[in-house]
Amino acid sequence: MSKVLFELSLGESRCVKVKQHGEETFTVEICHEETGNGQDMSLSRWKNFCDSLEEIVKTVQELKGNKEVNMRIHLGGHVYVSVCSPYKCVNIRQWVRGSYGDKPLLPTSNGVSLKFAQWEFMTSRLPEINFQLPVDLDTVVPCQFADDHANQLGMLRCSECNPDGYRDYINY
Ligand SMILES: [Zn+2]
Repeated sequence: MSKVLFELSLGESRCVKVKQHGEETFTVEICHEETGNGQDMSLSRWKNFCDSLEEIVKTVQELKGNKEVNMRIHLGGHVYVSVCSPYKCVNIRQWVRGSYGDKPLLPTSNGVSLKFAQWEFMTSRLPEINFQLPVDLDTVVPCQFADDHANQLGMLRCSECNPDGYRDYINY
């Protein structure tokens, strides 16, 4: 059972939701209101997203100034936030590893793109979104900084940090 604790419309059918699943699991979802297509992010992924804000904002500014940009930041489990010329939007999307050639990462349809107006509206309301989250985001430790990741094996075993290869390390 999950319930929506807070919902903010970003315009043109995009919205942000703070959701609760069971007793104490919370997620932040950015999605298309009608299709539901988007990304429902764990707090580890959401924290990575919020920590990347400065870089995303800077890249959006560069793209607006007609600079060539190609930014992709990993939030976990091959979910990336990306801004890439010439597309005037911020993408939050699941990617997959292609099986051909040098195995490039490929975007899937599982995600959502925000136009700059929607993106800027959302970032302006970010303190409010995080205020509605029953967990203090400052206390959330993304998995790559967790104690069990202090050695490399911990990171290699993690499906968030090593989505392509973690299965190879489970029995080490
Ligand atoms: Zn991890």
